[in-house]
Amino acid sequence: MGSLGLDVKVGLMRLVFLGAPGAGKGTVASLLEERLGISHLSSGDLLREALRKGDSLGTEASRYMKAGVLVPDDLICGLILNRIERLGNNCSFVLDGFPRTKEQAEAIDSLFRQKGHKPVDLAVDFQIAPAVVVERLAGRRVCETCRINYHVTRIPPRRPGVCDRCGSSLITRPDDRPETIRKRLEVYEAETGPLLDFYRSQGKLRTIPGDQEVEEEYGALMGLLKEEGLADAVS
Ligand code: AMP
Repeated sequence: MGSLGLDVKVGLMRLVFLGAPGAGKGTVASLLEERLGISHLSSGDLLREALRKGDSLGTEASRYMKAGVLVPDDLICGLILNRIERLGNNCSFVLDGFPRTKEQAEAIDSLFRQKGHKPVDLAVDFQIAPAVVVERLAGRRVCETCRINYHVTRIPPRRPGVCDRCGSSLITRPDDRPETIRKRLEVYEAETGPLLDFYRSQGKLRTIPGDQEVEEEYGALMGLLKEEGLADAVS
């Protein structure tokens, strides 16, 4: 196990974060990266980055993102699988927002099998009620430069509208508007059953509450990782 954390030692791990938009997956994954050096790969961030750079893939994907529906697999799978492959076999990572469908989960497993890489260890489902999702996404603000998430009341920046870390402006994501939020929740509900079944049948599905404060969600995850033998407390 590598000693990368503040008070924990972590082993090599591959985690998948599942859960409705706004359940805290991205925020907890950012903390894991900052505190334990576990790479955070967010499919939504990669798509938004492709759009900012003016890549044709980003422009094509943005039509779907604005409508709150899933980007087709032929657009997204290459982008994400390529990034996962580039991380190599000796790097711990969290996948946030990918896979969204059973087909995408199968594509990850098949990539790891082909490359002889360590498979996904756990899929962690952040459970949250739809009403809480709407409140969370409507209040979410994102740094336009370093992509860190804030919330107007839950995770407020020190200065309103300004990122604590880099001083850039905070923006509201276009797909965090109420009409799009509803659509994204519908899409999530439709796709999530088969995806949960996929990881359940592999014995890898675990749940944590997704409606708590950030540090409580982080603590619940660390408890889970310790139970699963993926992290150890340092005495
Ligand atoms: P997120 O930042 O994870 O909430 O994703 C924002 C939007 O990007 C989603 O509503 C989808 O349109 C698109 N997206 C992100 N990840 C995926 C994925 N794995 N499959 C298809 N579309 C995705």
